[in-house]
Amino acid sequence: MAKHDVRYGGELRKRYNKVEGMRTAKYVCPRCGKKNVKRKGNAQWQCRSCEAKIAGGAYVLSTPAGESSLQTIRDLKQSSK
Ligand SMILES: [Zn+2]
Repeated sequence: MAKHDVRYGGELRKRYNKVEGMRTAKYVCPRCGKKNVKRKGNAQWQCRSCEAKIAGGAYVLSTPAGESSLQTIRDLKQSSK
């Protein structure tokens, strides 16, 4: 059994801060493309522009499907420049 040692707390804290930042950050809506998606609850996200409800990761809006739609939006934005 692996021991869950908390002695490497610096690394953990760094990761925690990163997650905490992502949890409260706004995300690009896969539906309207606006950066207005906020975490509503555990693995629940909602766009405040178009009201789209998105099921995503518990702390980060990152699912295989979400990831590819974000990538699509990124590609679209880049190619329209
Ligand atoms: Zn939206």
